Amino acid sequence: MPNLSPAQLSEIATAHGTPVYVYHADRIAHQYNNLKKAFGGTKARFFYACKALTNINVLKLMKKIGASLDCVSIQEVKLGLKAGFAPEDILFTPNCTDFQEYVEAKELGVNINIDNISILEQFGNKFGSSYPVMIRLNPHIMAGGNFKISTGHVDSKFGISIHQIRHIERVVKSTKLKVRGIHMHTGSEIKDIGVFLEGLQVMFSMAEHFADLEVIDLGSGFKVPYQPGDPETDVNSLGQKLSEAFKNHEKETGRKLQVWFEPGKYLVSESGYFIVKANVIKQTPATVFVGVNSGFNHLIRPMFYDAYHYIVNISNPTAPERIYTVVGNICETDTFAWDRKLHEVREGDYLVFYNAGAYGFEMSSNFNSRLKPAEVMVIDGKAQLIRKRDVYEDLLRNQIELDI
Ligand SMILES: *Cc1c(COP(=O)(O)O)cnc(C)c1O
Repeated sequence: MPNLSPAQLSEIATAHGTPVYVYHADRIAHQYNNLKKAFGGTKARFFYACKALTNINVLKLMKKIGASLDCVSIQEVKLGLKAGFAPEDILFTPNCTDFQEYVEAKELGVNINIDNISILEQFGNKFGSSYPVMIRLNPHIMAGGNFKISTGHVDSKFGISIHQIRHIERVVKSTKLKVRGIHMHTGSEIKDIGVFLEGLQVMFSMAEHFADLEVIDLGSGFKVPYQPGDPETDVNSLGQKLSEAFKNHEKETGRKLQVWFEPGKYLVSESGYFIVKANVIKQTPATVFVGVNSGFNHLIRPMFYDAYHYIVNISNPTAPERIYTVVGNICETDTFAWDRKLHEVREGDYLVFYNAGAYGFEMSSNFNSRLKPAEVMVIDGKAQLIRKRDVYEDLLRNQIELDI
């Protein structure tokens, strides 16, 4: 499995400075090939859910290795087109987006996935049968790592409830809309493959309501291990079971349907490393803090989702382990890790956060008027800068200074 070594990471940190995000192209390709192999028994397509990481070079890499693209905003669609994706290889799956954005997506020629009846009606009234669409359904399945990243439950804002199928049918019939696909996405970090299989059965029963159906899109939620021993979604076993389920369905109904997926985290999480520097070692009555030159403005997952990121001190690898609380420099509670065993940390040491490819840089901000980190990609064995670190002027770039 392609990984970057501590020595390589240390070299990159020294060359490009810290904090810095590093992405390993080989690992992204490896993950993509894993999925292709696992789902080889079905007519599967993989739309990279690019909200996980949208650097234009990552998008171009995805295109090069054969992935398609899932976009949640019209800007992501435009980035995808710029990266060279054909419109038919882009899927637009927004929510709470105004009708104008759907019209724009239609003009750009991409696949459109509609997630509420109001837009379905407007789209049907305006375009009728001229532009086939997909519909995002809410299968009412509770799944995912925690409530913030669960999207298929009854309280969720996503999708059209499967119990509104009669209403959907009315809209489709009166507007002559062609529905070529139905979609579900129940959340992130789903380790139980039963959730996908249960969802598929719901989708099969919904499929009967759509005469023009070609695609069932099962979204994503593939979990990757964040710490040693952590479970991972068993994509091979899921692939086998889905292939059987699709074959049975085909036998029973005579219908050959494609299956689409929208992996985000699975493709890029493990390719990413976030390197920071220990600024301050601070002993208090309660613990030893390592204060680093970053914060939740750069990597929000620990504070926002209680996410665990494996951390290694790559500068002092042979020293004995001690117990630390790793914190950032933002002026409010900003904890990356409690009670973490690290090889003794000295001021100036580099710490690496693993699994930082997905929802890392992408969720970063300039909170506290701190600068966003640089991004580096290791491709064909070469580390190349793919985003410059912010500079002070970036903080003022869109501000309009009044004469006060
Ligand atoms: C976020 C998202 C995904 C990707 O989820 P991951 O857990 O990163 O794989 C897929 N589809 C849709 C519609 C999404 O919003």
